[in-house]
Amino acid sequence: MTTQPNWFTELSDSGTIFGLELTDAGKIHEEQTPFQKLAIYDTKTFGKLMTLDGCTMVTTRDNFVYHEMMAHPVLFSHPSPKRVCIIGGGDCGTLREVLRHPEVETAIQIDIDERVTRVSEMFFPELCESNNDPRATLAFEDGIAWINNAEPGSLDVLIVDSTDPVGPGAVLYSEEFFRGCWRALGENGLLVQQSESPLVHAEKIIKPMHDTMRQAGFSDTKLHQFQLVSYPTGWWSCTIAAKAGKVEFARQAAAEALAFPTRYYNAGVHQGSAALPQFMKELLG
Ligand code: SAM
Repeated sequence: MTTQPNWFTELSDSGTIFGLELTDAGKIHEEQTPFQKLAIYDTKTFGKLMTLDGCTMVTTRDNFVYHEMMAHPVLFSHPSPKRVCIIGGGDCGTLREVLRHPEVETAIQIDIDERVTRVSEMFFPELCESNNDPRATLAFEDGIAWINNAEPGSLDVLIVDSTDPVGPGAVLYSEEFFRGCWRALGENGLLVQQSESPLVHAEKIIKPMHDTMRQAGFSDTKLHQFQLVSYPTGWWSCTIAAKAGKVEFARQAAAEALAFPTRYYNAGVHQGSAALPQFMKELLG
């Protein structure tokens, strides 16, 4: 399989392989940034594909699922999400979804690697269309350094749209980082983090992440799962954690009367994505 000409293939730690057939243009951009190897491919059926260190980040065809699920469940779970921070998320797709919420007054995106954003502006302009929104600020530094300097209680929602727990993203899964997030959140504060595949990362990543969030002070954690064909196993998740109290669907009525367009998220998806298969229920308790 890996030797197929004109295919992009990603071998994952789960012993699976995912492939996309490329157009004749094939790999259309490649650079080594100070942090990671960034490449863009032109695929036959999924549009453009961005990889970091060989791992799929975004495709034109299915990024809407990921970006909507990283933004909307957490924002509709907060009673009044005004001050939002995204850590990672350099392709800017999550930022675009966050800014669809009229309640949001400020959204700051902190990605360690400015090149991810600059290359996304070239190859995924649709994801970057809200970058000039007056509520948005783009900053480029390490998320853990930023969070450790953030003013306590200064955020309503923190979205960790990071790479996998290897390379520069590894620190964003640590107890020190979650403690910093807990401190930076205000009353009713919520954190959401992408939490990999329920099928193959449940014991190694998801359960330890939930435990670490609670050890760092979060009082409740809730998994939402969704289909994402281009990520290993095609089955992905995010985890919402509450600074105090329970993670609840606080603004269900607003989600039911959605005031902006979506392609994946709606109130039913919000509730359905939180219903866990039996093995995940038993694991997370
Ligand atoms: N959807 C993707 C996934 O799950 O594979 C994540 C996409 S997003 C492009 C991930 C971003 O996290 C990258 O732009 C990367 O530069 C950023 N990142 C990694 N480590 C970081 C850190 N320590 N601080 C801030 N951003 C970081």
